[in-house]
Amino acid sequence: MIRMMEAGVAPVDLTAQFVTHYHSDHVVDLPDVVMTRWITQQLKKTGPLPIVTPNGPAQRFVERMLDAFDDDIHVRMEHTDSPAPRLKVTSFDAPTVSTEVWRSVDGLVRVSAIGVRHEPVRDAVAYRVDTPDGAVVISGDTRACVEVFELANGADLVVHEACRTAAMAKAISGTVFETIFSYHSDTIEVGRLAQQHGIPRLVLTHLIPAPQTDKDEKRFADDVRAGGFTGELTVGRDLMTFEIGR
Ligand SMILES: [Zn+2]
Ligand SMILES: [Zn+2]
Repeated sequence: MIRMMEAGVAPVDLTAQFVTHYHSDHVVDLPDVVMTRWITQQLKKTGPLPIVTPNGPAQRFVERMLDAFDDDIHVRMEHTDSPAPRLKVTSFDAPTVSTEVWRSVDGLVRVSAIGVRHEPVRDAVAYRVDTPDGAVVISGDTRACVEVFELANGADLVVHEACRTAAMAKAISGTVFETIFSYHSDTIEVGRLAQQHGIPRLVLTHLIPAPQTDKDEKRFADDVRAGGFTGELTVGRDLMTFEIGR
């Protein structure tokens, strides 16, 4: 929510919100987006926020997430004489092949999803956004898997999660991190798959372990290159922007 505002996008500006999976680091902010949109809608009427989510726990989270705000919603409604916040939830079964899950009213922007490999979390997806200017794929959380790169066929840019699993194997051996790292994307493997699928441009995000220095950051890039990737590569930082198309 804070990053979105810093990027110059207010909650009332959103056309739709897409959920990849239900891990808390991906949804803990969602009620904030919905509540802030609702409160600021007193100034700009935009209607319910469309939320697109895979079926299962993520969809259940979305449907229940405002429950804890009952009293707050009640007192604000009483005070401002406004209707309760409403969501327009579209949910879908995580598909095994690229499937369109949303389309803008003018038909120019299309969003497709594919199920990814984030077990024990099932019902996790990656998204692809197609626009007249080009296509961007967002992996969400997953092990390095071909599904993301099949979804990315012909895309201009892939934003992929990254975890230094192989490089840190010794250091994390026998710790809880061994388990956590096992359902994230080894950076070397991401480089290998991206190269194999001819991805022109790769941006790493959701960096594990979070880099503390430029040197740490460079290690992620070195891993991807070790995997054989020769395209354009950026280790992402918050609020970076990328241009695609003409
Ligand atoms: Zn995550
Ligand atoms: Zn996750």
